[in-house]
Amino acid sequence: MVLEQLAQSYSNPIETDFDYDLAIAGGGIIGLTLASALKSSGLKVALIEAKPYSAAAAKGQAYAVHLLSGRIFAGIGVWDKILPHIANFRHVHLSDADYPGVVEFETSDLDTDVLGYVAEHQALLKPLQEFVRQCDNVTYLCPAEVVETRYQSSGVEISLSIDGEVKVIRTRLIVAADGAKSRIRQAAGINTRGWQYWQSCIVAFVKPEKGHNNTAYERFWSSGPFAILPLPGNRCRIVWTAPHAEAQALVSLDDEQFLTQLSRRAGDRMGKLTLEGDRFVFPVKLMQSDRYVMPRLALIGDAAHCCHPVGGQGLNMGIRDAAALAQVLQTAHIQGEDIGELLTLKHYERWRKRENLTILGFTDLLDRMFSNNLLPIVLMRRIGLLMLRRVQPVKVFALKLMTGLKGRTPEIAQKF
Ligand SMILES: Cc1cc2nc3c(=O)[nH]c(=O)nc-3n(C[C@H](O)[C@H](O)[C@H](O)COP(=O)(O)OP(=O)(O)OC[C@H]3O[C@@H](n4cnc5c(N)ncnc54)[C@H](O)[C@@H]3O)c2cc1C
Repeated sequence: MVLEQLAQSYSNPIETDFDYDLAIAGGGIIGLTLASALKSSGLKVALIEAKPYSAAAAKGQAYAVHLLSGRIFAGIGVWDKILPHIANFRHVHLSDADYPGVVEFETSDLDTDVLGYVAEHQALLKPLQEFVRQCDNVTYLCPAEVVETRYQSSGVEISLSIDGEVKVIRTRLIVAADGAKSRIRQAAGINTRGWQYWQSCIVAFVKPEKGHNNTAYERFWSSGPFAILPLPGNRCRIVWTAPHAEAQALVSLDDEQFLTQLSRRAGDRMGKLTLEGDRFVFPVKLMQSDRYVMPRLALIGDAAHCCHPVGGQGLNMGIRDAAALAQVLQTAHIQGEDIGELLTLKHYERWRKRENLTILGFTDLLDRMFSNNLLPIVLMRRIGLLMLRRVQPVKVFALKLMTGLKGRTPEIAQKF
């Protein structure tokens, strides 16, 4: 690739008094995706993760992974290590609890082999960790914690805590990939907007008696959406949204009582369900940062935005942030620009902030429309579901939005 060769041979004449060109704070899936995508950029990167490798990979989470996210991982060169450990779905079954009509999405609607994937946290994190450890341009500091950032006109001084010692590094840019409670965003004084939903989300793993048939189910109840996602080994992920008190009461039930309630929600299409491991409950919120960038700082992933889990969008938005920012930084570097300058970083903000807002709005609308018994709203969603069933362009538009194929495609994903 000409771009990559140019980037590697280019040496930035602006200033050399830096330990790294950029530091990424947070080695979750999003921070790792950015570090991996910068492999051939010619930029010198420090990736800083507070938890030890195995603890960072041990999270009991699972995610719907969109087609575009898969293409980004393929462009990075890590997809073949991920694919054997995740499941795909070829059918999506969307329904409203008080209406018999079902919207069925099939691969023929998009002319693709699959409609998406479902991955457990470690199936994504471990291959990314391995990949980054092989990147010559990335210094992987783990466990190490960013404890302070001091912004200067030409760079950032970052204090790290490593094994109880404080070490200071200097970079042109810091990227905050440190999650929803981002200390770096808060310390920079960047405000956020949004709200806590009236719902919490219960997540659990189950094994159904019958096969899951590579189908993803999303059923909208007036208390909140309920999803069943297929996983390898004929297991499934349950993502069950309910009002806070109901969600707390459900997770407090013993296994047998919980399974009884779960089976009522899930129906009998998969036969008897068996619980695998613990169940957890999370509060659900919507959040958008007022700014994604300021001089010497960029926010990506949950540090920049969070959304309702309906439709499995959150992680995928972050993966697209990482790919977009990598492209913007690499282009700026090749052109001899300062990667930490506001003008450069604004390209990233313009690209991603509006697209993410569309997804936040879409997930919020879905949740509000379906968690509602007001007659005009019920009628509107029936019309919506009817259009999804009968009007092919509407169906394809919705499917593209849900699988990440609407919006600007990062260059790294374009070869697939
Ligand atoms: C119930 C639920 C279900 C969900 N389901 C889906 C789904 O199906 N599909 C989907 O796309 N998304 C889903 N999401 C959203 C998804 O979980 C998040 O969007 C995603 O995990 C965010 O990743 P991240 O890397 O930005 O942040 P995190 O995963 O929070 O990672 C941040 C990392 O930064 C590290 N860190 C923090 N502070 C510091 C510091 N000072 N120094 C160094 N390191 C630091 C942390 O240790 C951590 O490893 C769901 C969310 C919830 C709550």
